[in-house]
Amino acid sequence: SAPAALSGPALQDVSSEERDLHILDDGRTIRDFIDDQIKVLRSADREDPFYVADLQSVVKRQRLWLALLPRVKPFYAVKCNHHAAVLRTLSALNTGFDCASKGEIQMVLALGVPPDKIIFAHATKPMSHIRYACAHGVDTMTFDSEEELQKISLCHPKAKLVLRLAVDDSESLVRLSSKFGAGLGSVGKLLGLAADLDLQVIGVSFHVGSGCTGSLAFQRAIADARRVFDIASVLGVQMSLLDIGGGFSGRDDFQVKFEEFSGVINAALDKFFPPDCGVRIIAEPGRFYVESAFTLAVNVIGKKNCEESAPGGERMYYINDGVYGSLSCIINDLAHPSIQLLPHRAMALSEPRFRSVVWGPTCDSLDKVSNSVWIPELQVGDWLLVHNMGAYSVSLSSDFNGFEKAQVFPVLTADLKLRPPTVCIDDPETHDGVLLRPRCLPPT
Ligand code: PLP
Repeated sequence: SAPAALSGPALQDVSSEERDLHILDDGRTIRDFIDDQIKVLRSADREDPFYVADLQSVVKRQRLWLALLPRVKPFYAVKCNHHAAVLRTLSALNTGFDCASKGEIQMVLALGVPPDKIIFAHATKPMSHIRYACAHGVDTMTFDSEEELQKISLCHPKAKLVLRLAVDDSESLVRLSSKFGAGLGSVGKLLGLAADLDLQVIGVSFHVGSGCTGSLAFQRAIADARRVFDIASVLGVQMSLLDIGGGFSGRDDFQVKFEEFSGVINAALDKFFPPDCGVRIIAEPGRFYVESAFTLAVNVIGKKNCEESAPGGERMYYINDGVYGSLSCIINDLAHPSIQLLPHRAMALSEPRFRSVVWGPTCDSLDKVSNSVWIPELQVGDWLLVHNMGAYSVSLSSDFNGFEKAQVFPVLTADLKLRPPTVCIDDPETHDGVLLRPRCLPPT
């Protein structure tokens, strides 16, 4: 279907959550959709940034998960990207949900998801949120401290508790165990207090850190979880749930690694929690499902040449989305996004490149998107694509300085076979755009 008409009022009045799903039929690709959307914006004299969310990619991830981790039921981590199209797609695919707050629980329940498919996976919760979970039948929740047990015994005494364990997260991009998780040494005391308070502890969870690069982190953490099960057993508590958290990259180039990760995880599960042991296994993947599904289109809204600052002249470009908007992942998630220039005009491979800085639109100098990249000359009005933008972007962006958040256009590809491969200037056969690598070296 054609992109939504972007008359002024339509943009303001209709939230992105309510926008239609766009079906790409007759061989139309996501690139075609983006080009059409840019034309619609141009005709309305606008240049707003926007995302295209490829829901087919989310479906493919689910198929990959089911094929490679058949024993592990995914509970999607809503914090990673809470866009309604993502949540609806995953709900239709029958995943569970990991919610971190009352707000996320509300979002998921509003989709009609039954409360027993939600884990309230925040180890430190406001008491009013615990009471909300109790009132709405969300019983499974994590804890990692004595204080949290006291709060839960007051607000949700029938909760099914999952002890969050601190594990080795040294191989991950974003480490979490400095903030969350109980050490193995405190497990006995916590289980003792839970028993004193007449609370039911049903299992163990951990998170190896987001963007985990080493599969053995899961092996070590699963072995640690086994020790907690054994300590509990000695204390007379029979646990029945293991939650192996998140941490899996969602980039397409991680797919081969995911095979390695799932091999290590399956072997560790079979060793420490064999299929007949009666323990249910779940996980809380976030970025795995959405990272590569979202592409962000941004516009070059300004430019400045600093002849004096570098030989040949450094270029400074200003785009209309930045670290206070969709690209907050540069700061919060330590991301280095790849940016692709759309070839709206003839651009030869031999075009000279200039050392350039790319800034976001706000009045803050912290709002820097790329530092010192070597790229061809850009013009005001050029469109750039930022790939792999689905994780910790939509859910973290603000409208600081009055720059509106980028709208999301969810699309479904009717026929996967007709999609051309993603291309960039690195592929001399195609010349379809220029990939701006944040850390690329000067041309020799
Ligand atoms: N579960 C918990 C408790 C988390 O804190 C996070 C991320 O911070 C996730 C799941 C999702 O992690 P990821 O997106 O790395 O899969």
